Amino acid sequence: MPAPLTLYDNYTRSLRPFQPLATGEVGLYTCGPTVYDDQHIGNYRTFMFEDWLKRVLTWNGHAVRHVMNITDVGHLTSDADTGEDKMEKGARRTGRTAWEIAALYTDAFLADLALLRIELPTVLCRATDHIAEQIAFIADIERNGYTYQTADGVYFDTSRQADYGYLARLDKAGLEAGQRVAVGDKRNPTDFALWKLSPPGSQRQMEWDSPWGRGFPGWHIECSAMAQKYLGDYFDIHCGGEDHIPVHHTNEIAQTEARVGTRLANFWMHGYFLLSSDAKMAKSAGEFLRLTALVERGYDPLAFRYLCLTGHYRSQLNFTFEALDAAATGLARMRQGFHALEATTDAPDPALLERFTAEINDDLNLPRALAVAWETLRSERPAGVRRATLAAFDRVLGLGLADWTPAAVDVPPAIVALADARAAARAARDFIAADRLRGELHAAGWDMEDQAGGYRLKPR
Ligand code: AMP
Ligand code: ZN
Repeated sequence: MPAPLTLYDNYTRSLRPFQPLATGEVGLYTCGPTVYDDQHIGNYRTFMFEDWLKRVLTWNGHAVRHVMNITDVGHLTSDADTGEDKMEKGARRTGRTAWEIAALYTDAFLADLALLRIELPTVLCRATDHIAEQIAFIADIERNGYTYQTADGVYFDTSRQADYGYLARLDKAGLEAGQRVAVGDKRNPTDFALWKLSPPGSQRQMEWDSPWGRGFPGWHIECSAMAQKYLGDYFDIHCGGEDHIPVHHTNEIAQTEARVGTRLANFWMHGYFLLSSDAKMAKSAGEFLRLTALVERGYDPLAFRYLCLTGHYRSQLNFTFEALDAAATGLARMRQGFHALEATTDAPDPALLERFTAEINDDLNLPRALAVAWETLRSERPAGVRRATLAAFDRVLGLGLADWTPAAVDVPPAIVALADARAAARAARDFIAADRLRGELHAAGWDMEDQAGGYRLKPR
């Protein structure tokens, strides 16, 4: 009897058995990247947690409709609705337009997802493509009496909702009493912008007409509006990083409650932070660890995926290069172990599948699921059974075990001789000979890549 799937819901602060709201597809919304710069590796810890959640749902036989937004407008440098729009700031930093950097960093994000084997969402939607939906959403909230207008925009009146802040267990009275920062024209410190007006006399790169004047949407409204459009008023699971609990998700819930009376999603799940004593983990700090920086240092991006598998998503994880080295070694051993097993027509071992399922269904206990994978590799079962079992596990783990090809370990000596001759010709700056030898290697079915201090051979 397979273990039923249990997930931790931050709204009720409890582990709950997961039951889809409707037969058919499970609706999953995950907050996407703000595309004013590259993502840092901490962001990818959260995106991988969401990828594992989706794979676990699929493992349990659910079809998943996954929606992710791209925040390309409205995310201000301060969560208190002050400061600059991160996109306009990013545009100034790079000397490009806000539209150009949105396209540039969306592409960079998608390239990183592929490197980490994070599956694409069913719907990837840009905030700037859904301005009309956001305006309609705000108009509905206004009609229901939850808004007020100030000199700089339309705000949500959080005092109108008795349970405002329930997700974060916010202490509203304490916030009022301890309030040290100026709230401007806001009536309550927790009130937030739904629509911000363009500053008088200045033109923003991204602005739109609305019933309240020319301006741009607040950050929170995009997720409420796009989630509603693609998943309906109440869907199964909403995710993001833990930093979204007190403000962004709290406000998404407030908006949806004000519009239709639901709390948007049945489960609210959050990935806890990747921290680092070695490197800054905040994009706003300007200097932070990118995935490409790991690749430039010679790491396989999947070593970072493996590292994140070793910590439970509801605990913070400390990033160090020593931990990444250990993960790279673990991944290399698992790959080599997998490839040493002969592929047969054997089926996976049912008892191991059941144990693996019990771990992943226990609120995504991936560290323990990884331990079951190691036990499988080292077990006494026939090689073909072990290989088939590991290949099945990898549908969830996503390490791409079957797609990995061992580094050129079995390169025939004649090919090594050709490659050495080419390296020598290149070192002697005899580029004509070097090119000829590269052509010969190519014709023999091998590609040669120059690397610092040597070369690498890859079968074509
Ligand atoms: P952003 O691009 O800033 O909107 O963030 C994208 C996602 O990464 C959001 O779900 C954030 O909550 C999450 N996030 C931000 N910083 C970290 C971190 N250090 N560790 C894990 N997740 C993070
Ligand atoms: Zn969001």
